[in-house]
Amino acid sequence: MFDTKNKPKIVVIGAGFGGIYVSKGLIKSNAEIAIIDRQNHHLFQPLLYQVAGGILSAGSVATPIRAIIGKNANTFVRMESVIRIDRQNKKVFTDQDNSYNYDYLVLATGSTYDYFGNDSWKKYTYTLKTLKDAVNLRNKIYSSIEKALTTKDPDEKKKLLSFVVIGGGPTGVEMAGVIAEVTKKLTKEELKLEFSDINIYLIEAMDRVLGMYSEDQSEYAKKSLEKIGVQVKLKSMVKNIEESVVETNEFTINASTIVWAAGVKAIGAPALLDDIPKQKNNRIKVNKFLQVEEDKSIFVLGDSSYFEDSGKALPGLGSVAKQQGEYLSKQLTSICAGKSFDKEFLYVDLGIMATIGRSAAVANIANIPIKGFLAWLLWGLVHILLLISFRNRLWVFTSWIWTYFLDSLEARNINASYAKDLD
Ligand SMILES: Cc1cc2nc3c(=O)[nH]c(=O)nc-3n(C[C@H](O)[C@H](O)[C@H](O)COP(=O)(O)OP(=O)(O)OC[C@H]3O[C@@H](n4cnc5c(N)ncnc54)[C@H](O)[C@@H]3O)c2cc1C
Repeated sequence: MFDTKNKPKIVVIGAGFGGIYVSKGLIKSNAEIAIIDRQNHHLFQPLLYQVAGGILSAGSVATPIRAIIGKNANTFVRMESVIRIDRQNKKVFTDQDNSYNYDYLVLATGSTYDYFGNDSWKKYTYTLKTLKDAVNLRNKIYSSIEKALTTKDPDEKKKLLSFVVIGGGPTGVEMAGVIAEVTKKLTKEELKLEFSDINIYLIEAMDRVLGMYSEDQSEYAKKSLEKIGVQVKLKSMVKNIEESVVETNEFTINASTIVWAAGVKAIGAPALLDDIPKQKNNRIKVNKFLQVEEDKSIFVLGDSSYFEDSGKALPGLGSVAKQQGEYLSKQLTSICAGKSFDKEFLYVDLGIMATIGRSAAVANIANIPIKGFLAWLLWGLVHILLLISFRNRLWVFTSWIWTYFLDSLEARNINASYAKDLD
C-alpha cells in the first residue's frame, strides 16, 4: 500500500537480476516504488552450483533485498507472491491478501526448468534455480556418500555413489564438474572411498556439450570433464525418469542423485498476463522500450521477456536482465519526471563463460574464444565483480581461497531442516 496520492506509483515484481537493478536505479526518482518478491533475498544464480557442491555457503550468493535497497522514503519491500493482475484497474493482488495500485508495472519474475511435458520427472530430480534447490542438492550429494559408507548392500552402494546430470549446457557442465571435484576431495579424507567407486554421468541429447560455444570449445569442455572423471554421454535422449532410474535411447542408469538441467521456460509473468500471447519458452514479447505492446504501462524484462534483437530473442542471461533493469530505471525516472524518453534498449554483449571443474573454463569475450586456465581466471574475476554486495564478494573470494588453495570444503554440512525452512 502506497502512502501518497500524487506521486507516480511503480510496482516491481521480482528482485532477481532485472528487478533489483531497476529498483536500485529508481530510488532517486520522484516515484513511489513497491518491490515485491516471494523471497526475502536477491539470488546470484550463476554460483548456485557451488552452493550445491559445498564450496560456497548459501549466504554468500544471497543478499537480503532490504540490505540492497535500504531505508528510503519512496521505496518499500514486501515478501509476498503476486497471484493476479487486474489490468483494467491497474492493481496487483498477492497471496497475503494485499493489493497495490500502479501507474507502471515491472515484471521481472524469471524462469524455471522445463520438463518438456514430462512433469512426472520433477519429483525424481533435483534442479538448481533457488537457494532451496541448491541446499537440497547439497544435502542429497553429501548424505548419499555418507549412506554409501554405511550400507551393506553393494547394489545400493553403487546407486548411492552414482550421480546423473541431464543437460550439457553451462549449468549441467558446471554441476557435473563440481560433483567430480568434491567427491574426489572426499576420497582424500576417507580410506574406504575410492574415486573409481563413484560414477558421474553427464547426459546430453545433442552431439556436443555447450552448444552455444565453438566446436573446439565444446570438445575442450568434454575432454576436461572426462579428465576429472565425468562420463559424458552425447546423443543420448532421456526417455523416462523414475525413482533413482534414468532411461535413455541408449542405456539405463541407476543413480540415487539425478539433476535436471535441460531447458528453461519463463514463469510468473506468463501466468499473470494470461491474456497476452506467449512466445518461445513461454516468454512475453516486449517492444524496444521493454513495454508489452498490448498494455504500455507494463514492462517485462529478464528471463520472462522476449526481446528481439537482429531477428533473434536475447538469451536468458543475468547480463541481459541487469542491463534491461538499468535501462528501465532511467526510462521510468524520466517518464515519472514528466520528460520524454525515446531511447530504445540496446543490449551490449559482454560475452559468455562457463567453468569445468577447478581450473578450466571456456569464454567468448568480444567474439574472441578463450579456453583453459586464463578463461577460468577471467570467469572468477567477472563473477566476483558481478556479485551485488561487497560482503558477498569478500565471502566468495575467501571461500575460493579456502577451496582452491587450501583444498578445504567448508560449506558441506548436511542440514535438511534448513532447506525446509526456505520453503
Ligand atoms: C544455475 C544457473 C546458472 C546460471 N549461470 C549464469 C551465468 O553464468 N551467466 C549469466 O549471465 N546468467 C546465468 N544464469 C542465468 C541468470 O541467472 C538469469 O538469466 C537471471 O537470473 C534472470 O534474471 P531475472 O531478473 O529475469 O530473474 P531471476 O533472477 O530469476 O529473478 C526472478 C525473481 O522473481 C521472483 N518471483 C517470481 N515469481 C514471483 C511472483 N509471482 N511474485 C513475487 N516474486 C516472484 C523470484 O523469487 C525471483 O527473485 C544462470 C542461471 C542458473 C539457474
